Amino acid sequence: MVLSFKDRLQAVNPEYETFESLHTLQVNLGNLCNLHCTHCHVNASRRGTEIMGRDVMGQIAGFLTQHPNLTLDITGGCPEMNPDFRYLIEQTKGLAPRRMLRSNLAIMAEQGWEWLPEYCREHELIIVGSLPCYLEDNVDRQRGIGVYQKSIQVLKLLNSLGYGSELELDLVYNPGGDFVPGSQHGLEATYKMELLANHGIVFSHLFTITNAPIGRFREHLESTGSYSEYLRMLAGRFNPEAAGAIMCRKLISVDWQGKIYNCDFNQALEMPVTADDGSEIVISELDDGGMSGKKIRLSQHCYSCTAGEGSSCTGALAG
Ligand code: SF4
Ligand code: SF4
Repeated sequence: MVLSFKDRLQAVNPEYETFESLHTLQVNLGNLCNLHCTHCHVNASRRGTEIMGRDVMGQIAGFLTQHPNLTLDITGGCPEMNPDFRYLIEQTKGLAPRRMLRSNLAIMAEQGWEWLPEYCREHELIIVGSLPCYLEDNVDRQRGIGVYQKSIQVLKLLNSLGYGSELELDLVYNPGGDFVPGSQHGLEATYKMELLANHGIVFSHLFTITNAPIGRFREHLESTGSYSEYLRMLAGRFNPEAAGAIMCRKLISVDWQGKIYNCDFNQALEMPVTADDGSEIVISELDDGGMSGKKIRLSQHCYSCTAGEGSSCTGALAG
């Protein structure tokens, strides 16, 4: 039996359960994706039907206009596959000092998407690319045959456009199984060495992210009878320092319909942020004080954010 995450967090500091201040607006453009990864927590695929439209994108631009200096973090699915992806990028131009695009990289090597790398450069998007390992076999096992080679081809192209030098290019590592990432610092050094030596590729930062036991990854854990063991392992590696830095204290996540969540994991679990009367909150109605002092909706999957060095959309939380 694993102690409730909420109790564990409160025991460290009751304040950690409360939203602090907004730094990052994460928007999920939907569950359409060209890949079908084993660890996917949003169950994305080519058959995805939840796709953000221009109405919600306009509300996001409106929110950013009223709240300057936020980081805009664009995710999916494969966000570039949203038919109105370019509309969002153009509507939010100049509204957020940092606009991060979470890309699976492989999409940029597909026929019909040749415009994408140059478009990202032109709009000065920060690219956060998934590359769960520097070794081909590990990537292809997790993401599908041929994905590693496509990712390498795209990283070389991005380098030639100035990504990794003048423009920020970050990579994301996540474990190929039911374990917690090792040291982000150490792994970043290894990635840099291997990618440079083998492919001449350079990048800015590596983010290590722990697999949350939800979505397709939870199905995998359950099918191998290792779900409870994984949760126990995460709880056993609980790090109070990481607990004080969980990303949901400074981030909100918006779904394709405009509903607000504490993070993308809660979004996948359909655990929205609610008003005092229990109604769901949408981005068009979120006012300045809308999140301040609000309790974060916590559950057992949250142990993936506090295990080891901790985990967030921008990597480890404690060194
Ligand atoms: S993990 Fe990312 S790239 Fe893979 S299927 Fe899910 S959304 Fe697509
Ligand atoms: S899973 Fe989401 S709500 Fe839970 S601790 Fe992590 S960021 Fe916060």
